[in-house]
Amino acid sequence: MNLSDPGTLKTFLARHGISASKGLGQHFLCSQKVVDKIANALAGCSGVCEIGPGPGVLTSRISAQCDRLIALEIDSRMVSILQESAPKAEVRQLDVLHADLAEILKELPEPRGVVSNLPYYITAPLLTKIAEACEKFTVAVLMMQKEVAQRVAAPAGHRERGSLSVYLQSRFEISLIAQVSAAAFVPPPKVDSTVLSFRPKPTGIEPSLEQDFYALVRFGFAQPRKTLANNLVAAYRRSREDILTVLETAGLEEKIRAHDLTQEHWASIQSALQGMPLG
Ligand code: SAM
Repeated sequence: MNLSDPGTLKTFLARHGISASKGLGQHFLCSQKVVDKIANALAGCSGVCEIGPGPGVLTSRISAQCDRLIALEIDSRMVSILQESAPKAEVRQLDVLHADLAEILKELPEPRGVVSNLPYYITAPLLTKIAEACEKFTVAVLMMQKEVAQRVAAPAGHRERGSLSVYLQSRFEISLIAQVSAAAFVPPPKVDSTVLSFRPKPTGIEPSLEQDFYALVRFGFAQPRKTLANNLVAAYRRSREDILTVLETAGLEEKIRAHDLTQEHWASIQSALQGMPLG
């Protein structure tokens, strides 16, 4: 059964009396080209965890190329039909936001991959959850709304850059796998999508300082229209003079905004803040 063919997918769903649930973000991929690109990006993975398999267009293809695939799906209707479309997959009915992803990944043989056409209504918490389990996999191949992907991959100087960009770029090498038009889904969403791959890398931040680093980044972006100095004065309750000294030590101008900073700038600010006596 080739579910990347829209006619076959629609017939399959109709035969089981299933219509897509908007509330669960169900837009099913129907493009052989994109399925191939995603499967190729996971080549070499012996174990794969798929989040939100739906009817199984990716599940059937990827379970055929790896040794073991665990699929996590919230919708019981999909859990039943996956037995037919992807019999090799081990399907678990659960809400991935409440699952221990790292523990599930540990069940799989290495090297491990994560794959998902992300349900759009939980994209940001799911990206964070996947990032937190990064020690347990070699690559994650994730489809998301094009605008979200632009924010995730935005380099320093781009207005789309935010705390999620800095967080993810510190933990992963991020590469473009495919641009996908809305027409490649049944039913079509209102926006286009992008597939990115995420390969874990060392953060370069001392583990004991990681929490403080990410807190600094969140504070810096707290009010993106304000200057970085104003955001940091509010967050750290330091005098403006102190914060300007920190920026100067990091080689940054007074009027700079958070989205202009590189990873290295954030690290310099963190060490300048640490070196500053309190009061
Ligand atoms: N992978 C399929 C595809 O590409 O055609 C379906 C992708 S669809 C965009 C998202 C899938 O995630 C749906 O099957 C939906 O039921 C499932 N889903 C939504 N919220 C979920 C959650 N909290 N936990 C697990 N699965 C979820």
